[in-house]
Amino acid sequence: MEINRRSFLKFSGALAAGSALKPTVVHGGKPPAPPEDALGCLVDTTLCVGCRKCEQACNARHHLPKPKESFEEMTVLENERRMDETSYTVVNKYYPKQIGTLTWRTRPTFVKFQCMHCNDPSCVSACIVGALTKQENGAVIYDPKKCIGCRYCMVACPFQVPAYEYRNALTPQVRKCTFCFQYVKEGGLPACAQVCPREVITFGKRADLLRLAKWKMKSNPGKYVDHIYGEKEVGGTSWLYLASEPFESIGFPKLGTKAPPRLTESIQHGLFQYFAAPIGLYALLGGIMWFTGYLKHSHRGTPQETHEKGDAS
Ligand code: SF4
Ligand code: SF4
Ligand code: SF4
Repeated sequence: MEINRRSFLKFSGALAAGSALKPTVVHGGKPPAPPEDALGCLVDTTLCVGCRKCEQACNARHHLPKPKESFEEMTVLENERRMDETSYTVVNKYYPKQIGTLTWRTRPTFVKFQCMHCNDPSCVSACIVGALTKQENGAVIYDPKKCIGCRYCMVACPFQVPAYEYRNALTPQVRKCTFCFQYVKEGGLPACAQVCPREVITFGKRADLLRLAKWKMKSNPGKYVDHIYGEKEVGGTSWLYLASEPFESIGFPKLGTKAPPRLTESIQHGLFQYFAAPIGLYALLGGIMWFTGYLKHSHRGTPQETHEKGDAS
């Protein structure tokens, strides 16, 4: 069976546009099952050549500051990088590695990282004011108007994704990949998936992507390790990966199948129980939110402008 990627994208894009996507806040309670129409991306790391076009396209779409080194500079790949407030996605290069008596590859492997848009996101669960929300289309997005800057989300994320604008003294925000939320909602593609010249990133319904990944593995015996990263890790993620070597040798954390939110919730509940009477806590949070809002208003212009900067997707 031949799957044409373009038609797959078209089909998925139309599907995304067709579903009226209302925000769904996931807070506590039972881990949610991903909606049948939840979207995602499948990254086939065996195809990536490390050209950094995805980084460049993401930077342009979100009007992020230009990096010190240009996107044509390939020496940056020699050091393992992490996402930060100016880079929602980074590509890293992993050289062949000996594991025991086995060499897992003969050429470098390039891996694109960004927020995984977890099915049951720890960042959402850890955020006590609902500034991060899981949307029905799979995206985990951030509302700067609600954020009080506690940075619980950064501590909670098992992939160390959210970054903080420490250099912005007055109105710092948490920054991370938005899954190009506005574009995807209107039937478009994530900029990184759209630009990739090697068609490394396939965008579509998560359920279809899992089928595609399994089909690729079956049709190419020996090419991939028998593992789709993100299918089960931390309860499943919207972004899924295929690779030709063990994921722990190419920068992926080894994680269980349980979502950490349950853990972060119990910590928070414990903290609240012992250190602050709820009414006092809410008064304090209210004060902080009012003050944060006041600062944003006086330094940023209209709430619309504020929202557009925070959700530049
Ligand atoms: S654009 Fe595609 S091939 Fe180039 S680095 Fe990104 S994922 Fe890899
Ligand atoms: S990868 Fe981290 S920031 Fe992204 S949704 Fe999961 S917990 Fe949140
Ligand atoms: S989905 Fe959008 S925000 Fe996320 S890495 Fe790709 S281009 Fe950047």
